[in-house]
Amino acid sequence: MILERIDVIPIRAPRKEAVRSGLNAGDPVSASEFGIVRLVASGGIEGLGEISITFPRIGHTLCHAARTMIAPALEGRDALDAPKILVEIDRILAGELSAPYLRSAFEMALLDLAGRHYGIPLYQMLGGRMRERAPLAWGIYQKAPEEMAQDAAVARAQGYHAIKLKVGRRLEDDLAAVKAVTAAAGPDVPLRLDANGAWHSVAQAAAAIEAFAKAAPIAWVEQPLPRRNLEGLRLLRQRTGVPLMADESLHSLRDAYELARAEAVDVFNVYVSEAGGIQPAAHIFALAAALDIPCILGSQAEMGVATAACAHLAVALPNLPHAIETFGPLRYTRDIVAQAVPIADGYLAPPEGPGLGVSLDWNAVEEMRVS
Ligand SMILES: [Mg+2]
Repeated sequence: MILERIDVIPIRAPRKEAVRSGLNAGDPVSASEFGIVRLVASGGIEGLGEISITFPRIGHTLCHAARTMIAPALEGRDALDAPKILVEIDRILAGELSAPYLRSAFEMALLDLAGRHYGIPLYQMLGGRMRERAPLAWGIYQKAPEEMAQDAAVARAQGYHAIKLKVGRRLEDDLAAVKAVTAAAGPDVPLRLDANGAWHSVAQAAAAIEAFAKAAPIAWVEQPLPRRNLEGLRLLRQRTGVPLMADESLHSLRDAYELARAEAVDVFNVYVSEAGGIQPAAHIFALAAALDIPCILGSQAEMGVATAACAHLAVALPNLPHAIETFGPLRYTRDIVAQAVPIADGYLAPPEGPGLGVSLDWNAVEEMRVS
């Protein structure tokens, strides 16, 4: 079965609410610049992938690289040769920092295509189903404390299992948000706090974390320091005793090894898009399991195609002790898939059907298409 056509479609997807976090406080992101990868093999069988990256906003640059560097190398190859094709993509991208985002889009498209060819859902290709659906957390961007509290109350009423909020502003603003959200969410919901690397020293991060821990039950603090500062994370972890999570510090399996070796964090936030695909993300889960480090699945606010990939992985993973954060499609005014990925009552489930189980809503794609 020959790959006859490789389409890469850059899209601009309007968000319901602008992203405001420790990464971009003065520069809110009101739309995601993503890309869709569509493989068509002989016989007309398709595979879909999604290029999803929010920071930095290089999604359309990656689409250009996909069109000019990867697509020509894939045309005419056996569509079921995913491992060989992915080795070729790795060779072309040569370890470039953003390579995993591109690799991930092509990996999910190749697995989608293979699943459709064999007539089985992607979770079966990952070994089968450990659970019917995966519990979700809800995430709240930086805004006025009363608005954040309102979001938390709505999320709890809708069944979300945990609440995450973006911190990393002035300490008094963060503290007001933490107090308001915990009052709304209830004392039985320890908060996940994500600083996106906003604090620049161990002392500054420790002061903030100690203040939060006095004000509310804290599940963990995500990425308190910039991504490369593993030694700082280790010191902070020892100093505060509050669990720390790696996000920006953790992309690859190698990063997971370095974090574990540095004893830098307590929990890993693993992304399909940042790990380089569904299988590399599963490998990080496996390494972390061997080291007794719990993981969640995290999100770039992926749209329907990549969120379906996350859902298949989430039901197949043997170890998933905490609610995951792959609720991306709910961030958008409109999704790119014809039938919404099942998100209900605080759970994410994989779409039914072979492969990823999704198809494109071409009207939506045309509306969002950039070029
Ligand atoms: Mg994060």
